[in-house]
Amino acid sequence: MTSPHSKIVLITGASSGIGAATAGRLAADGHHVVLGARRVDRLAALVADLRLAGGTAEYHQLDVTSRDSVYAFVRGAHDRYGRIDVLINNAGVMALSTLDALRTDEWDQMIDVNLRGTLHGVAAALPLMRARGTGHIINIGSSAAYRVDPTAAVYCATKYAVRALTEGLRQESRDVRVTLVSPGYTHSELTEHGGDPQIQAAARAAAEELGMPATAVADAIASAIAQPDTVDINEIIMRSTTQG
Ligand code: NDP
Repeated sequence: MTSPHSKIVLITGASSGIGAATAGRLAADGHHVVLGARRVDRLAALVADLRLAGGTAEYHQLDVTSRDSVYAFVRGAHDRYGRIDVLINNAGVMALSTLDALRTDEWDQMIDVNLRGTLHGVAAALPLMRARGTGHIINIGSSAAYRVDPTAAVYCATKYAVRALTEGLRQESRDVRVTLVSPGYTHSELTEHGGDPQIQAAARAAAEELGMPATAVADAIASAIAQPDTVDINEIIMRSTTQG
C-alpha cells in the first residue's frame, strides 16, 4: 500500500549505481518505486531489501533500447496505479575509446541507450502526464553534457543531446515538470562495461578517486521531486569538490 502523499516513481536503469541509490532514497521517502533494468536478479534483490526496510517497490525487466519494452514498463505502471507521477530516465552506458578505434557497435549502443532510451521514456510517459495535467520527467545528463573530453566524444554527444532534448521539453511544458540532473564522477558500475580496456581502467581509477557517492545524486533527485508541483528545478549540475 502507498500513502496518499507518496508518488509513483519509475526509474530506468535501477539495477546498480545511481538508479539503485535513487530507488533506496525515494522508497525511504515513502514513494512507490517501479524499477526497470535488464538484470532482473539484481532488481529482485534490491526490491527485497527495500521491502524489508519498509518501503514499497516492484521491478520489471526493461530494455530501454526497445520502444515496446519502455511502453510496457510505463503503461503497465499507469494501468496498475492510474497515474505516473515521476519518470526518471537514468539508464546509461559509457564505452570510452578514441574515434579512430571505430568501435561503431559501442557508438550505436550509447546512442540507443542514452539518447533513444530517454526519448522512448518521454514518448511513453508524456501523453499520460499531459492527459492528467501534471507529472515530472527527470533525465540524467552528465558533466559530459557540458564539456567534451578525448575518448568520450560519442558519450558526450549523447549527453549533450539529452541536455538539448530536456531543455526543449522544458520549454514546451506548462504542466509537466522537467529536470536535468547532471552529475560528475560518481561511484557506480558505469566504467565496467565495454570501451577500450586501458581507457576504461583510467576512467575507473579517476571515478574512484574523485567521485561522489551515488547517494549524493539520489539526494539531489529527491530534492527536485520534493518541490511543490508548481516549482520546477530545471537543472542540477553537481560534482565532488575534488573533480575540478
Ligand atoms: P551503472 O552502470 O551503475 O548503472 C547503469 C544502469 O543502466 C544499470 O542499472 C543498467 O542496468 C542500466 N542499463 C544499461 N543498459 C540498459 C538497457 N538497454 N535497458 C535498461 N537499462 C539499462 O552506472 P551509473 O549509475 O553511473 O549510471 C546511471 C546514469 O548516470 C547513466 O545515464 C550515466 O550516464 C549517468 N552518469 C553517471 C556518472 C558516473 O560518473 N557514474 C556521471 C554522470 C552521469 P542493466 O545492465 O541491468 O540493464
